[in-house]
Amino acid sequence: MAESMLQFTRVPQHQPDKRDVDERRTDFSEIYQEFATTRAQGQSSRCSQCGVPFCSIHCPLNNNIPDWLKLTAEGRLDEAYEVSAATNNFPEICGRICPQDRLCEGNCVIERGFESVTIGAVERFITDHAWTQGWVRPVRPRAELQQSIGIVGAGPGGLAAGEELRRRGYQVHVYDRHDRAGGLMMYGIPGFKLEKEIVTRRWRLLEEGGIRFHLNCEVGRDVSFAELRARHDAVLLATGVYQARELGGPGSGLPGIVKALDFLIASNRKGLGDDVPDFDSGLLDARGKNVVVIGGGDTAMDCVRTSVRQGAASVTCLYRRDKANMPGSLREEKNAEEEGVQFEWLSAPEAFPGDNHVSGVRAVRMRLGLPDASGRQSVEQVDGSQFTKPADLVIKALGFDPEPLPKLWGCEALEVSRWGTVRVNHRSFQTSLPGVFAAGDIVRGASLVVWAIRDGRDAAAQMHAYLQPSARVPMLAAAE
Ligand code: FAD
Ligand code: SF4
Ligand code: SF4
Repeated sequence: MAESMLQFTRVPQHQPDKRDVDERRTDFSEIYQEFATTRAQGQSSRCSQCGVPFCSIHCPLNNNIPDWLKLTAEGRLDEAYEVSAATNNFPEICGRICPQDRLCEGNCVIERGFESVTIGAVERFITDHAWTQGWVRPVRPRAELQQSIGIVGAGPGGLAAGEELRRRGYQVHVYDRHDRAGGLMMYGIPGFKLEKEIVTRRWRLLEEGGIRFHLNCEVGRDVSFAELRARHDAVLLATGVYQARELGGPGSGLPGIVKALDFLIASNRKGLGDDVPDFDSGLLDARGKNVVVIGGGDTAMDCVRTSVRQGAASVTCLYRRDKANMPGSLREEKNAEEEGVQFEWLSAPEAFPGDNHVSGVRAVRMRLGLPDASGRQSVEQVDGSQFTKPADLVIKALGFDPEPLPKLWGCEALEVSRWGTVRVNHRSFQTSLPGVFAAGDIVRGASLVVWAIRDGRDAAAQMHAYLQPSARVPMLAAAE
């Protein structure tokens, strides 16, 4: 039944129900249940159809949120899907894993007093429903073009760009060093946030649309960057950032101290049914262990919750600032607490005791000081506050930097910033090399899936303008 809008005073906010904690702690399935159609309609009807929709302004894709909420409330789900898919290549993925509290929902005008519209859950519902109805179709170019494009990286940035370029008729080739497409959506983000089948069906759809995938192919090893440039009329770098930041201090090199992404990739691969020797040997398996994860971002939250599901004896997260200042999503932190993770806020590691294997983390309490030039509060040690947490497995989740591409690829002319991210002209997305473009984390530094999609779409439009100078492609405003 069609619902009228502006129902926020009458209909309370309902986020999708979560599965019971005792059940979800034991498997890697997603924790949020699906909206039923009537619930999605009712929640959409809460929208007040703002003339200036702050939700859309704060969505990196500027999704037409009020429009698809209205269509959903009216039960016009096929049209809601068309509108949603027009600005987002993977709406059901963003609906699941965007930090909505910081983006669209955090800026919904009814948030104050009535709680925001559940935008992410409705977005997910619309496209999941479209998949079940067979409305999600492979891209069909209107005409085939001869020109070919090489994309390095099958993460969200590379895949979104690939789909947009294929739509325009280009011969699109995507290269990735992994054996599956999806980038961090496949191997970084755990299944309890994003089930792998959701990513796989997108990859298959892109193949059906004519995109050619060259997997197990590392640029710089299996094919040189120079050869790739010779093969294609234009190249897009969407390689992400993978160099883990390191811990210092005595004992920081001991066995039993592992990198977050090694741990998460092993867990995801195991879930996909692969042979993972380092998991089977126990090196990357938390079962029965006291686990300490160091860091306060989304990667740290994913590591603690993965450890819980693997059957760790105890799981502690150590972060040097407080909860209010953690970089990760508060929603994920709450989920972790519910699942039994202990948090040691305002605690920084100093040393790692152990002879042949780590046996604990010696940490010191911190306090927040005055804000620095960036406005962020500094942290300082509290004298004499050392304590030790027993640990058989320590996971380093301190963030990522880019790999040194110019050196790895023997291409010093590719300009990078002082942080190692690839420099682009923020209007044309072109790097210092003619015909070479870049998008996603390799340009921004570690960011979000939704920003990688946005960059991929914008880069695709600019590559089209480069290859078809007569095509009318609006110049972009400088990306944020
Ligand atoms: P990536 O997804 O990193 O993809 C890059 C691809 O390039 C990879 O497949 C890699 O194998 C390939 N590649 C790299 N070098 C080469 C080479 N030389 N040759 C061939 N292939 C190469 N974001 C969210 O929005 N929500 C979340 O909940 C969230 N959780 C996260 C959890 C974790 C553990 C991590 C690490 C990140 C998370 N993020 C999350 C961030 C998000 O995953 C990234 O911002 C996003 O995936 C970046 O997309 P990308 O396309 O730029 O790069
Ligand atoms: Fe919100 Fe992300 Fe969807 Fe944009 S893409 S509407 S930020 S969930
Ligand atoms: Fe609707 Fe909230 Fe967006 Fe306004 S800000 S259009 S109420 S979702």
